[in-house]
Amino acid sequence: MSALLQKPIDYLKGVGPNRAQLLKKELGLHTLQDLLYFFPHRYIDRSKYYTPGQLPQTTADVQVLGTITHIETVKQKRGSRLVATFSDGQHSMELVWFRGHQWIQKSLQRNTPYMAFGRLNWFGKKCSIPHPELELVEDHEKRKGNFQAVYHSTENLSKSGISQRVLRQIVAHLFDEIQNKVHEVLSDEMRNKYRLIEKNKALHAIHFPKSQEGLAQAQYRMKFEELFFVQLQLGLKKRHRKERLKGIPFPKIGSLFNTFFHDYLPFPLTEAQKRVIREIRTDLNSSAQMNRLLQGDVGSGKTIVAVLCMLMALDNTMQATLVAPTEILAQQHYSTIHALLEPLGIEVGLLTGSKTKKERAPLLEQLASGQLQILIGTHAVFEEPVTFHQLGLAIIDEQHRFGVAQRAKLWRKNSIPPNILVMTATPIPRTLAMTAYGDLDLSVIDELPPGRKPITTLHRFDSKRLAVFQFMREEISKGRQVYVVYPLIQESKALDYKDLMDGYESIVRDFPMPDYQVSIVHGKMNAKDKTYEMERFASGKTQIMVATTVIEVGVNVPNASIMIIESAERFGLSQLHQLRGRVGRGANKSYCILMTGSKLSQDAQTRIQTMVRTQDGFELAEVDLSLRGPGDVMGTQQSGVLPFLIADLKKDVDILKTVRHAVDELLQNDPELKGQTSANVKMALSLSQQGKSIWKYIG
Ligand code: ADP
Ligand code: MG
Repeated sequence: MSALLQKPIDYLKGVGPNRAQLLKKELGLHTLQDLLYFFPHRYIDRSKYYTPGQLPQTTADVQVLGTITHIETVKQKRGSRLVATFSDGQHSMELVWFRGHQWIQKSLQRNTPYMAFGRLNWFGKKCSIPHPELELVEDHEKRKGNFQAVYHSTENLSKSGISQRVLRQIVAHLFDEIQNKVHEVLSDEMRNKYRLIEKNKALHAIHFPKSQEGLAQAQYRMKFEELFFVQLQLGLKKRHRKERLKGIPFPKIGSLFNTFFHDYLPFPLTEAQKRVIREIRTDLNSSAQMNRLLQGDVGSGKTIVAVLCMLMALDNTMQATLVAPTEILAQQHYSTIHALLEPLGIEVGLLTGSKTKKERAPLLEQLASGQLQILIGTHAVFEEPVTFHQLGLAIIDEQHRFGVAQRAKLWRKNSIPPNILVMTATPIPRTLAMTAYGDLDLSVIDELPPGRKPITTLHRFDSKRLAVFQFMREEISKGRQVYVVYPLIQESKALDYKDLMDGYESIVRDFPMPDYQVSIVHGKMNAKDKTYEMERFASGKTQIMVATTVIEVGVNVPNASIMIIESAERFGLSQLHQLRGRVGRGANKSYCILMTGSKLSQDAQTRIQTMVRTQDGFELAEVDLSLRGPGDVMGTQQSGVLPFLIADLKKDVDILKTVRHAVDELLQNDPELKGQTSANVKMALSLSQQGKSIWKYIG
């Protein structure tokens, strides 16, 4: 069967070389298999009928019953159109043709019941259907009651006569050809248990559904299958890592961890922090390599968790590294961690791109000899000349900023891959966590340290800027500090930069020296200047920090209590959430003010309203996913990871959970997929590993 499915579509009845060429070029359909899995993107309900008197006020495709009472040709500027009055006796609408008048006019029968199908076109209270599909009710009766598939198509295709009707015909020929002989890939046992219809039935019903219910069953079955193989691959990968790959166990909880934990911990840990540390501890104590994702909202206290984990490594004579996405953040982690560990006599190194060769040399030497136990840095740490004596633990902060490839580089920093902990403050929607990050174990800090006050988030239009400045003055007079952030988006860099400088100048005008001091930080400054300005702000010497999104991640200045985001409509939800997380870190009431122009797109409105409504990162992540789709949420570096054919990560959370359960159960009972009931599954998997199946994108 699979051989048949690999045949080129040229071979199919109704296709031929010209159409095959077009289908390849326009839709990427090369083989029968491609066509079989070319699922409709929507359906038209052909079980519903309207009459001209009760048409829905939409532009939907509908079926209307009536008779033609009048036909005329109406002159237009260029050419003419043919107009038929279509009536149910009391009310009427128009059927309109702009081409092929003569032939159509001849074929139309007056006062005979017709079914007209097409897209409604409303003009005030008048309604028409241009170029309807017309069928005598008598003929229509014979094949009514179906849902009809609508496929993705292109203008070139319809111009070349490959209409939806033709596409449906071609798919019908495909089914004649394959004769219900597509291999079932799920066992009877599993299909019974999860109420999944047989594969051939499902495929057919997806292209030619007979009822809403049948369609739903078919879609469920195919979504289940698609998600099942993704989860299975992930499950196998994870198993392989745990059982076959050697890790570096840290069996000992030693004096460094204990001394720090009992004598130097700056605050009691939250219950969530304790739980997460226990989870990590269990991993590190086992002989398998740890590969864990730590999710915790902005400000939930991931840094201290990282520090405690690094001490576990050190207690077992291993080195540890913490990698951050920006210099500012690396610098800040360095000062925090250096200060925390100094009393224990632990030396901490900092490696960033701006360090000169001279500065690096001794650092790299100490690292290679094992004298330096902890290295904090930016992606410079990934690079070739950096070698460790014995790297036991690598922590990556703000995972979404790094690509999978960079994570892989860390794996190679030691002969046995180090334990890996990736931390992210951008909550990942459940469906993505279970798929895109499905090969990682997951820990969540779902509790903020005590005493945090909620941040009041407000939306203000640009026209209210003076009032916002006044508010800033009042707060600054109480000793508070303010961030003012401008968007800086790659494509329009020059323009954004101008916005930033204009904004800076206007703030300096409105907040003049000597009463006020204003800092500025942006990506074009060198690292030394950035650090200098950050320090002036952090130490309270300046009251206002004008910045681009370089301060988005991780920056911690507890006295700053106001975050003003300019052109907030241009930021994504997770960025807005990250920026807001810069305030609300101290004892004072904090505010986040979203400034926007007066005209907002629908999506921008949703983003702003969601920000004003909630501070819950996970809720924001779900809204973000529904607005942008999984590819964008994952970021460009990882987009295209999940090109599902039918499953929809925005909607199919429940199916995904069921699938996950089914996979766990299968791997529990039959980890090697050796049993009878796993035979089909195994075959499908091996096909997919040869890149022959629709699951070729995994792995
Ligand atoms: P994030 O998870 O965003 O990286 P941080 O680790 O930077 O958060 O912590 C945010 C702030 O909360 C820091 O100032 C940190 O010292 C403080 N903090 C972390 N954990 C606790 C705790 N258990 N109790 C009190 N303060 C804490
Ligand atoms: Mg952090």
